[in-house]
Amino acid sequence: MKLADRVAQLKPSATLAVSNKAQDLKAQGKAILSLSVGEPDFPTPEHICKAAKEAIDAGFTRYTPVPGIPELRAAAAGYFNRYYGIAADADHIIISNGGKHCLYNLCQALLNPGDHVLIPAPYWVSYPSMVELAAAKPVIITTVPEKDFKVAPADLEKSLTPKTRVLLLNSPSNPTGACYSKEELDAIALWAVERGVVVIADEIYDRLVYSGTPALSLCSWWQKHPENFVIVNGVTKTFAMPGWRVGYALAHPDLIRAMSRLQGHATSNVCSVSQKAAVAALNGDMGVVQEMRSAFERRRNLALEIIAAWPDVICPKPFGAFYLFPDVHRYYGSRFADSTSLCSFLLSEVGVAFVPGLAFGDDRCIRISYAVSDDTLIKALHLAAKALIH
Ligand code: PLP
Repeated sequence: MKLADRVAQLKPSATLAVSNKAQDLKAQGKAILSLSVGEPDFPTPEHICKAAKEAIDAGFTRYTPVPGIPELRAAAAGYFNRYYGIAADADHIIISNGGKHCLYNLCQALLNPGDHVLIPAPYWVSYPSMVELAAAKPVIITTVPEKDFKVAPADLEKSLTPKTRVLLLNSPSNPTGACYSKEELDAIALWAVERGVVVIADEIYDRLVYSGTPALSLCSWWQKHPENFVIVNGVTKTFAMPGWRVGYALAHPDLIRAMSRLQGHATSNVCSVSQKAAVAALNGDMGVVQEMRSAFERRRNLALEIIAAWPDVICPKPFGAFYLFPDVHRYYGSRFADSTSLCSFLLSEVGVAFVPGLAFGDDRCIRISYAVSDDTLIKALHLAAKALIH
C-alpha cells in the first residue's frame, strides 16, 4: 500500500522491538526476565483509582474542554507552585495524553520546516522522530559516561546555528538517570535566554530522585522568561499511572492556546475519567510517591552494586528515574558486535531483556530498567553477567 513519506522515514521503536521479541519467546513457553520496561511496576494508588470510579458513577463521561478540566489545570499549576515556588495558574497549563503527547504538540506548535532542535544524546527514544514529524532537524549532541552523560553550554554553543530554535533537555534522564545540578541547569538556561533558544524541559521523572538529590525544575526560569521555557511533566511516573495517559505542560499562554488548537483537531480532551484520577493524584497524599521512590532507590543501589563487579563496564551512578545505562562496548567482539546484537544474545541465551543503547543514540551502552521486583532484578543481572563475562 502507498503510504506517506513521513511514515516511511519513521524509525521503528527499538524498545518495542525488544519487547516484541520477549513476547514471542514467552509465547513459546520460555521464562523471560524483562528489565526493558519504562513504567513503574507498582499499581496505581487506591485513592486515585477510587476517584476514577466515582467519576464513572457520577456520569463524568462526556467531552471536556480540550486543554483539560479547569480543576486539573489548576491542580497541575498548583503542583508547580507548591514544589518550585512559582505563581502559575490554570491558563499556563494544557493537559494532554501523556508527557509524550505534550512533547509532540510542542514540536508541532513551535517548529517550522528546517528548524534545528538540539538533542543531547543519549536521548529518550521519541525525541528525534517527533522533531522529524514536524519537518525540523534533530541536531544530536553526544555526551560521554565520563562526564555523567551531561551537556554544558560550551557543547551547545558548538552546535548552534541561525536555525537553532529549541533545546530538548531531559533531567532526570531516561535512559541514563543523570540529573543536572542547579548550577548546571542555570548555566544552560542562561545560555538559552542569551541565544534566544526555547528550552523544552522534560521533567517527567522530577519526583524520582535519590541519594539526597534535590528535585529541580526550570520552572523559575519559565516564570522569568515565559517565551524561552516550557516544562513538561505528568502523572505517569510519579504516581504509577502509565495507562491513564495524562501529561501536562507549563508554557506561555499563547503556546498553550496553539497546542490546544492542534489538540482540538487531533485528539480533543484527555479521557474525562483519567482527568479526575489525575486531580486526585496531584492534590492527594504524596506519601505513596515517597514509598515508591524508596523502593526504586533500594533497587538502584542493589543493581549498581552488582554491576560494579562487572569488569570493563563504566556505569555512572544514576541519581534519578529508574534506569542504569552502562557502557558495555568492551564486551563487543565475535559473539555480538553492538548493543542490538548483545541484547538479542542475552534474550535468546539467558532470557534476560535489556534495551540496546542504539535506541537512545548510544550504541556503546544498554539500558537496564530497575522498575521490577528485587528478586527479578538480582536474578536477571546475575544471569546476564554469567553470559557476558568469561
Ligand atoms: N519523557 C520521558 C523522558 C519518558 O521516559 C517518557 C516515558 O517513558 C515520557 C516522556 C512520556 O511519558 P508518558 O507516558 O506520560 O507519555
